[in-house]
Formats: sequence, C-alpha cells, structure tokens
Amino acid sequence: MPLSPPAQPGQSLAEIETPALVLDLDAFERNLVAMAAFTQAHGVRLRPHAKTHKSPEIALRQIAHGAIGQCCQKVSEAEVLVAGGVGDVLVTNEIASPTKLDRLAQLARSARIGLCVDHAEGVREAAEAAARNDVVLDVYVEIDVGGRRCGIAPGEGAVRLAEAIARSNTLRFAGLQAYHGAAQHMRSIDERREAIERAGYAVRNTAERLAHAGLNCEIVSGAGTGTHELETQSGLWNEIQAGSYIFMDADYARNRQADGTPFRSFEHALFVLAGVMSKPVPDRAIVDAGHKAAAVDSGMPIPFRREGVVYTKPSDEHGVLTGDPIALPHRGDRLLLVPSHCDPTVNLHDWYVCMRGLHGPDAHVEAVWPVAGRGALT
Ligand code: PLP
Ligand code: MN
Repeated sequence: MPLSPPAQPGQSLAEIETPALVLDLDAFERNLVAMAAFTQAHGVRLRPHAKTHKSPEIALRQIAHGAIGQCCQKVSEAEVLVAGGVGDVLVTNEIASPTKLDRLAQLARSARIGLCVDHAEGVREAAEAAARNDVVLDVYVEIDVGGRRCGIAPGEGAVRLAEAIARSNTLRFAGLQAYHGAAQHMRSIDERREAIERAGYAVRNTAERLAHAGLNCEIVSGAGTGTHELETQSGLWNEIQAGSYIFMDADYARNRQADGTPFRSFEHALFVLAGVMSKPVPDRAIVDAGHKAAAVDSGMPIPFRREGVVYTKPSDEHGVLTGDPIALPHRGDRLLLVPSHCDPTVNLHDWYVCMRGLHGPDAHVEAVWPVAGRGALT
C-alpha cells in the first residue's frame, strides 16, 4: 500500500501530519535568485548538486534560474533526473562497475552525461561502456585538491589520464573535477580561504600542464556552498557545484563570514515540522521527530525561533526538548526544526511539503513534491 503524503495543497500548518519535511518556498526561491545572481555576475556556470534535493521538481527550478544542468553522486540519481526532464547531468564521482557504467551510458541517448575518473582503468571501462551503448560520454579528470577523498594527485598523472580520454573515440575530455569537500564547513573565512588557495595551486599547475600537452581543459568544476565565492574569485574555476545553498542547514549557519558574523548569504528554507506528543514534566517536552526524521551527523536540529528551547537527544522516533518550562511547547503543539545537515535529512523523507508564507498568519501548503530520488544509492 503506497503511503499517502503528510499534507494536501491548501491545508494550513496545523493540518500537516507530523513529522514532515517542510520547504519554505519563499525562502527557497530567494536562495535560487541569490545564487543565480552571484554566478551570473561573476561569469561562472552554475551546475547545482542534486545530492542535496534528489528532486527533478527542484532541479528544473534551478535550471529555470539559469543553472546549466545538474550534478549528482549516483547513477540512480542521474536516472531520476533524466526521467524528470533534466538534459545535462554530471556524476561527480568515480564509477567502478561495468553495469553502472552501462546504465549511465544509456542515459546519454537522451541527455548530455558526464562522469569523473581518477584511474586509467576508469577511462578504459567508461570508453567500453560508451562503445557498447553507442554514445559519447563527457569525462572529467578528478584531482585531489586537498579533500583526501577520490581524485588523482594534481600534475602529470592527471595529464596522462586526460590524454587517454582524448585518445578514445567514445569519450570527450571535458575538464577537471576539483572539489574540496573538507573546506566547506571550516568555520572561519581565513581557514576556507587558505584551503581554496592551496586547491587553486593544484588546479593551476594541472591546467598549465594540460595546456602544454595541447589538451583543451574547457571546464574546471567544483565548489560547494561554503566556499563558492572563493573558487569564483580565483578565476580558476568556471563551474560551481553548490548544493546546500537552496536549503541552508544549521551546520552551514555555524560558518562565519569575514566580519565574524554567521554566514548569511542564504536563508533557512528546509525544516522538519515536529509535533509534541508528550510533556511528562514541566521542563521536558517530547517531539515525534528523532533519527528517522532528521540526520544528526552534524549536530542536533535547532528549534526555529524558539528562544530557550534546546533539542537535546534523538532516539529512533522521539526527540527530547529541554529548557525553560515557560518557553517549552505543550502537548499537541508543533514546531519547526532546522536540520543540521540537509542532504541526509532529505533522504529520510518521501515528500516535500511546500509552504507559502510559512512564517506568517496565512501559511498554507502550495504543493507536495516527491523526494523522487530518495534511496537512490546505486
Ligand atoms: N560537489 C561535490 C562533489 C560534493 O560532494 C558536494 C557535497 O558534498 C557538493 C558539490 C555540494 O556541496 P554543498 O552541499 O556543501 O553545497
Ligand atoms: Mn552535505
């Protein structure tokens, strides 16, 4: 039996079944506009990351605001995006599986598809899959710019891979994947600046060697919400992969700007609406949102505009609120929680409940969108 969504269009906040993943459409749209304005003003391409939202509804709105396509981490996410009408998808990841490469190559019959490699075997396997499926794939060489995750070391090895790609007649060398994941949540601007400066040396060094070898490095792609201004200002990257900016989670709000104030280029647009199911004693209220409603890998969710109320402890289906008994909500009340980490939180839900005027007196559900790529892990 398919589960029904927690709300219907037209309903008020009080009518939504809890817990629910709530999207503030007004703030979300302002975030779309802010990132589009930034990237357009600086002449860089925006290829937002769909790992954040897993939703063609959202992808198509980003594209309507000037994004050139999407990136994602998984072949199954690419399948969901292409099925939903996205025409240009880059998998910002290595794929070490011929069956996955076949699935990806099949998508290239109806969309522009790219992937990353950091090993000669990856080039060979991608070329074979493209040939088996009679398509051409865009291939990016991923270099490790300091994140110590995937990616070949910058320099000559990367050039050898690019040459192998360029030699294949089923692959097109598209450029470099240069993403510094570890830099995104460094708290001070000085730490983030230093990390991206180092990443920039790696990109410049590799790009110069590619040019020397006669290879056209058209795109240098990377950057997340935490550092995108730095990559853009460097002049070395020309494509931005930010994902979380549309939702702005509580952990990103802990980053600091140059003047020491909280990072505020974007607004909180994603919430978990929780209901209070019990208040057994005056200084403890229990909500119906625990581990299965909000990810806590980056800290506890933050009660939104609830001075003196702290979410202290999740269990599977419960969350414990403590604080000033006067400030604590009552049994039957509901409150908005700002998730600490948006990407894994979204993957816990089947639906976005999209609200208009969320924080005002006329808050109502405008639409309900499926998290179409929920559980798309392969
Ligand atoms: N690009 C890649 C390769 C990523 O792995 C991620 C996130 O982990 C992003 C971009 C987006 O970063 P953020 O959600 O911090 O904007
Ligand atoms: Mn994330």
